Parts: sequence; C-alpha cells; structure tokens
Amino acid sequence: MGRLVDLGYPVTWIDPSFSIGRMGQYYREVPANTLNSDFLVALMMCKSFQFEQHQARRRLTGQPVMAQWDGDQCYPLGAFVECLEDCTKELLPLTKAMFGTVTSMSKTSGSGWKIEVAPSSNQHVHRHAYSTSASQVVTCEADVVILMCGSKPVCLPGLPQLNDTDGKRTIQHTTTDTPTHTTTFTTFHPLDQLVCPKYVNTLIHTNPTLRTQTWGVIGSSHSGMLVVKNLVESGVSRVVSYYRSPMKFMHITPTGCKKYQGIGLKGPVGDWVKAQLQLQQPAFKLIQVKTTTDWSQQLVRDGVQHGVMAVGYKRDVQFPVYVDGLAVARGEYDGYDKMTGEICVQDKKIGLFGGGIAFPQDLVDDEGEVEPWVGFKRSIEQTDLMIKVHEGY
Ligand SMILES: Cc1cc2nc3c(=O)[nH]c(=O)nc-3n(C[C@H](O)[C@H](O)[C@H](O)COP(=O)(O)OP(=O)(O)OC[C@H]3O[C@@H](n4cnc5c(N)ncnc54)[C@H](O)[C@@H]3O)c2cc1C
Repeated sequence: MGRLVDLGYPVTWIDPSFSIGRMGQYYREVPANTLNSDFLVALMMCKSFQFEQHQARRRLTGQPVMAQWDGDQCYPLGAFVECLEDCTKELLPLTKAMFGTVTSMSKTSGSGWKIEVAPSSNQHVHRHAYSTSASQVVTCEADVVILMCGSKPVCLPGLPQLNDTDGKRTIQHTTTDTPTHTTTFTTFHPLDQLVCPKYVNTLIHTNPTLRTQTWGVIGSSHSGMLVVKNLVESGVSRVVSYYRSPMKFMHITPTGCKKYQGIGLKGPVGDWVKAQLQLQQPAFKLIQVKTTTDWSQQLVRDGVQHGVMAVGYKRDVQFPVYVDGLAVARGEYDGYDKMTGEICVQDKKIGLFGGGIAFPQDLVDDEGEVEPWVGFKRSIEQTDLMIKVHEGY
C-alpha cells in the first residue's frame, strides 16, 4: 500500500479490521528474526508511512522508538507492529479503505475485476474508512488486484485440523499390539498461540502438571524451534522435537555467500538452538521422522501427551475467483510468478497478483540455491515489479 500510495495510484484497500494481520493478532510478543536495522530500512522506504515523523511523536510522548534501538539486535515484533499501525493510520485516508471481507471476485475478458465485499462490524475503529451499511454486500471494481490474504498453519493429515477459532483438541490412541488394549491421549495446541513466549509461560504456570508431561513439537524450522524454546524456558522438562531434514541455519560462507536467509534459523531462536546443540545434553530431544510416519504410533511410542504442529503455513484464499464465468482452480495459484507474484490463468494475464507470506518470492543465493522468501522490504520491492508487469500489459 505504501508504495502504491507514494506513486499516486488510486487504491481500494480491503481488510476486515486493518489490525496488522497475524502479526498484530498473535505475534506481538514473539521475538523477531529480522534485525532492527532491516526493519528500519523498510519503514523508511515509503514516504507515505511518515515514519520519521511518527518516531519523533513517539519520542515526545514516551512511547517505544525503534529508530533509537540497536540496529544489530532483534526485538519482539510488537514494536514493529506499532510502527505498522502508525503506517496504517497514514495510509487509510489516502486510499478507499473498506472494512470487510472479500467473498468473491470475478472478471470477464476485456473488463476489470468486480469484487464482492461483505462489510465487517468494526468499521468505526478508523474514522477514515469507507463506510457501508452493516448488512450490505458491496461490489467494487479494479483493473488490478493484489491478493495479500496471508497463510495459516498447516495441520498434518490424521491429526486434529485446528483452525483459527479452535482451541486445543485431544486425540485418542488405542494400541492393540499388547496383551491388553491401552488407550492414551495427546492434546494438540494451536501453533499461533504457542509461538508466543508469554502465552506459554502463563499456560505452564497456571497448569503446573503440564511442566512434567511430555510435549512433542512436530517441525524444526523457526516456528517449531521457537515453541521448543518457549516450553523449555517455561520449565517443561520433557520436550521432543521431531524433524524430517537436518536444521538449516542462516550463515555466510567463506566466499561471502549468504545462505538460508529466508528458511534458516536465525536471530534469538537460531542462537538459542545453536547453543543447545553444543551442550552434551540439550534441553530437548531430537527425533528424526519420515513423511510416512504414523503419528499415532510415534506419539504413543514417545509418550507424548501434548503436541504442536509446526510444519509450515499454507495460503489462505478463502473466496472463489471467476474468470469468464469459470472458477479459477487453486492449482493456478501455485503457478504464480515467483518474482513478480503475477497469477495467470491458463497462461493468460488477468491483472491478478499475489504477495506477502501467501505468495513467497524465490530468493536465489550466490551459489544458485533457491529458497522461498517473504519480508516487509521485499514486499515493497515486489510492488515495483508488479507495477512494471502491469504497465507492460
Ligand atoms: C513465529 C513467527 C515469527 C516471525 N518473525 C518475523 C520477523 O521477524 N520478520 C518478518 O518480516 N516476518 C516475520 N514473520 C512472518 C510474518 O508474520 C508474516 O510474513 C506476515 O505476518 C505476513 O503478512 P501478510 O500480510 O502476508 O499476511 P497476514 O499477516 O496473515 O495478513 C493477511 C491479511 O489479509 C486479511 N484477509 C484475509 N482474507 C481476507 C479476505 N477474504 N478479505 C479481506 N481481507 C482478508 C486478513 O484479515 C489479514 O489482515 C514471523 C512469523 C512467525 C510465525
């Protein structure tokens, strides 16, 4: 939005609450894996954010001022979220902002997009938001649409399919290979809550028996290892970390190539894991699993009473998209251009792009290895590519 507004494009901006997505909802207490200096560079990339003015105001009113903090450190994401809230306040009056949820989109050849929006109830929060009556579904039009709908945690088949509104869910395992049938239980907890150190600390301290029970965390990339760290630091004594392929850490090779900037462990979580792995007895147990692992058997074998699935995030586009009357198959999204984010339907350009965590870019390192990459600065740079592609239509 910042880049489009800077360049003077008329933009309709649609979101149910404009409250900084999952970061604003769940990750404020989560330690960032981005250096403060990198966040600052990104926040200064768009004039319309008025970042420096907001930092000056914060200084005067005694609020956190990221610009005064150590650039080489990673801080909890909350400070960055507050800056994004400042940016949002600046951008809302400069766009046609609609508090609502997109319920469908359609386009016919030779014309623009028609976007159906169901209004949400909390539009009063920002006085600049475009107002609709509470029950009215509104249709708006656009030549180009950028989908930045976010991603949600993946749940493994055969294990509880937790969604955003679910709390924990318990599954029962019955083993029949012993003379007597044994029944055990594993309670699965939502990843978005367990990545928060404060949430885990409160959970464990208000239920002390959880501290002595066995926890299994499936997945060993950033979110998974953050959950392991949160549990260990809250006093849980038996934590199993299940991994499929060996952990990757962000590092710089002797020839100066930056490896695994996107997918590698880094920041405070990466440092903690590295330090643990150097100990003779790390505070968690690592167990390698296969894609074909029977989770019920595995969890019973390891006596896991509490589980967390940290096996990645999947795109969350919940509404149908029609082109010339035909619904766009979900598979078409997978074929998006990994640099520009452009989504074509049967190789036809339709003025549709994807960005943010739902549509990561490909980052090719100096050794030619490709990894998925998301990030605030990248999103701004990617907007320039989207504009270039669109202008070439
Ligand atoms: C543990 C953890 C640590 C992280 N640390 C960092 C970090 O240090 N640095 C960093 O850069 N990133 C970090 N991230 C990643 C970061 O949180 C995500 O990249 C970022 O939140 C993605 O933003 P997004 O806008 O793509 O999606 P989201 O934040 O999910 O936002 C999507 C928005 O789209 C809206 N939406 C969805 N569907 C509709 C619809 N139908 N109609 C209208 N609106 C809709 C949603 O309401 C939401 O507001 C971290 C993530 C995790 C899990």
